[in-house]
Amino acid sequence: MINIAIDGPSGSGKSTIARFLAQKLNILYLDTGAMYRACALKALKLGITEYTDESVSSFINDIDLKIEYVDGVQKTILDGEDVSSKIRENAVSMMASNISALKPVRLKMVDMQREVAKGLDCIMDGRDIGTHVLPNASHKFYITASSKVRAERRYKELIERGQNVDFDTLLAEIEQRDYNDSNREFAPLRQADDAIYLDTSDMSIEEVLNFVLERIKG
Ligand code: C5P
Repeated sequence: MINIAIDGPSGSGKSTIARFLAQKLNILYLDTGAMYRACALKALKLGITEYTDESVSSFINDIDLKIEYVDGVQKTILDGEDVSSKIRENAVSMMASNISALKPVRLKMVDMQREVAKGLDCIMDGRDIGTHVLPNASHKFYITASSKVRAERRYKELIERGQNVDFDTLLAEIEQRDYNDSNREFAPLRQADDAIYLDTSDMSIEEVLNFVLERIKG
């Protein structure tokens, strides 16, 4: 059974690597960040702006969130609506980081993640996959890059999607999210002891993909 865990901060290139590997190896890819983003969207719909264990507990266990695959591409469905684009809006990123720090949210999402991947060869990317969601994964990677490089990548991506963002604000947000994700109490962003560390700041995407593929082929 192949289970690949890819963790790292936002903009490190995890999802590009995960998507490529999933195609190459013909296995399922689960982008777990999409699920935390959907939780933030749900709270927004309900008018919940203050995130506490109590406020999120009012909806999290009954959340109507489904992950579907259309031609191998993950679709995030919330209350029957395809929110795959909406969750990518920049404003949702910080909300997702804040809401994901809460234990009731993480417990529910991790249950769902394990359920999606149960018995399947899969690759998951996130923050706590190697340490918490799939501690027995056959391959683990921790992918990072300097915050400046990550902000530049994210800036390009958002501009290409037609979103209006300011670079310095984006960089500050990325650093804030890194701090939140690394310092939360429950299942923080951390490199698993048995994960392979890779800093992609000065690497092209091809170099990164080759590096990862070589390690998997062993
Ligand atoms: O990966 P992405 O940037 O889409 O994730 C959005 C947010 O969801 C992250 O900033 C992080 O706080 C949270 N997240 C998490 N655990 C995961 C995946 C994402 O806490 N496994």
